[in-house]
Amino acid sequence: MDNTQFQTLPLRSELTNNLTHLGYQQMTEVQALSLPAIVSGRDVIAQAKTGSGKTAAFGLGLLQKLDEKAFRIQTLVLCPTRELAEQVALEIRKLARLIHNIKVLTLCGGVPTGRQVDSLRHGAHIIVGTPGRVEDHLGRGSLNLNHVNTLVLDEADRMLDMGFEPAIERIFKQIPASPQVLLFSATFADNIHAISRRYMHKPEHIVVAQTH
Ligand code: ADP
Ligand code: MG
Repeated sequence: MDNTQFQTLPLRSELTNNLTHLGYQQMTEVQALSLPAIVSGRDVIAQAKTGSGKTAAFGLGLLQKLDEKAFRIQTLVLCPTRELAEQVALEIRKLARLIHNIKVLTLCGGVPTGRQVDSLRHGAHIIVGTPGRVEDHLGRGSLNLNHVNTLVLDEADRMLDMGFEPAIERIFKQIPASPQVLLFSATFADNIHAISRRYMHKPEHIVVAQTH
């Protein structure tokens, strides 16, 4: 069995069965390089171009770790825009199809905050949101990150370009236990290194070369 097979990973059967159903036959390069470290609980910083399957890399990792019976927010995924957050939430729901009753909630601008406050009152396992709206909810006391054990920074380069660093910093401080941090980016400027030094613990660095 070569190392691009999902079966090489210690994934729960609901995930592997669903991957077959989705037609994901082999891991993409970024998945094959990052998933062993992600599943082992390490912090990972991964650079790979758009369309390389980064969402499933962190999505499978966070779903593998999630305890669906504990109905509380265990994962926070931060994305730069509402559109990206919605795409990520869709892909996570798709991957989680065979795990019963997983609640993924998006928290982004463009939707009345009050409605999101109601949804939060009903609870969730996974939050996917933009830093601005997530901070709004923290300020209102409608969002509690006390049980978050995985933090994903998706499209980190774009979030930094958009000036979200201070918001990310304030959000990070609301997570009491040091979470597993997974950082994904298409580019790798100095500010990404700075953020990884600040928030991450001995991260495994993965770079997928642009050969095609
Ligand atoms: P990125 O975040 O790197 O830009 P995405 O996570 O959006 O890329 O993935 C791009 C597309 O590839 C999605 O449509 C996703 O469903 C698909 N995909 C991801 N992993 C696999 C895989 N192992 N096999 C087949 N398709 C995959
Ligand atoms: Mg992506």
